[in-house]
Amino acid sequence: MHPLVIFYIFAFTLGAVVGSFLNVCIYRLPKNESIVFPPSRCPGCGKGIRWYDNVPIISYLLLRGRCRSCGASISIQYPLVELLNALLTLFLFMKSGPSFAFLVLFLFCSAMVVITFIDLEHQIIPDEISLPGIIAGFIFSFFIPQLGWLNSLLGILVGGGSLWLVAWGYEMLTKKEGMGGGDIKLLAMMGAFFGWKAVPFIIFVSSLTGSLIGISVMLAQKKDSKLAIPFGPFLAFGSVIYIFFGRQMIHWYLGLTGFSAN
Ligand SMILES: [Zn+2]
Repeated sequence: MHPLVIFYIFAFTLGAVVGSFLNVCIYRLPKNESIVFPPSRCPGCGKGIRWYDNVPIISYLLLRGRCRSCGASISIQYPLVELLNALLTLFLFMKSGPSFAFLVLFLFCSAMVVITFIDLEHQIIPDEISLPGIIAGFIFSFFIPQLGWLNSLLGILVGGGSLWLVAWGYEMLTKKEGMGGGDIKLLAMMGAFFGWKAVPFIIFVSSLTGSLIGISVMLAQKKDSKLAIPFGPFLAFGSVIYIFFGRQMIHWYLGLTGFSAN
C-alpha cells in the first residue's frame, strides 16, 4: 500500500468524525442549545445514543437509518453531512498536504457545511459562525504570506460592502427585503479568508448557480411563486469552488480576454 493512502484514510476519517460534530451544531445552533452538552439523544424515544451507534456513516448503514431502541427513522442528512465533510477534508488534504493551509481550509469548509444546512432549513446564517469567522480569517492572514492582513481586511470590506450595496439597491427598487444580513456577514468572512480578489469570483459563481437552480425550481412548480431560496448555500458552494479551482479559472479567463495571467 502506498504510504500516502494511510494519510488519505486519516483525512477522510477526521472529516467524518468532525462531520458528526457538525451535525450537532446544525441541529442545536438554531435552537440556541449548547453544542457540547448534553450528549446526543434520539429525538423519538429520548434514549442516549451509545458510542457504537454513533460511528460516522457506518452506524447509520448498520442500523439502516433507525434508532436501535424505538425504531424511529433517523434523517439521512446525518450520514450525508458526515460523508460530505469527509470528502471535502480528503480533497483538501490531497490539495494542501499536512500544512497550516490545510488546517485553515478545513476549519473554513466545516463552517460552510454547517451554514449550508442551517440556512437550507431555517433561512438564517448564524452570527455565532460568521462573526468569529471574520475575526479568525483576519488573524490567520497574518500567518499566510500569500494572503497578508491588508488583503484580508480589504476582503472583509469588499465582501461585506458589495452585498450590502446589492441588498440596499434591491430594497430601494422593490421596497422589499431581498438579501439577509447573514449573507453580508458570510461574504465578509469569505473575504477575510481569501482576500478581496476572491469576492467577485465567489459572487459570480454563487449568482450563476443560484439563478440556474432558482429558475429550475420555478419551472418545476409551474408558477412564479415567491419561494425564498436561501443564498447562503450558493455562497458556500462558490467559496469551495474558489478553493479548488479559483486560481486556474481566473487565469484561464484572463488569458481568454488577452490580459496577462499574472
Ligand atoms: Zn429512539
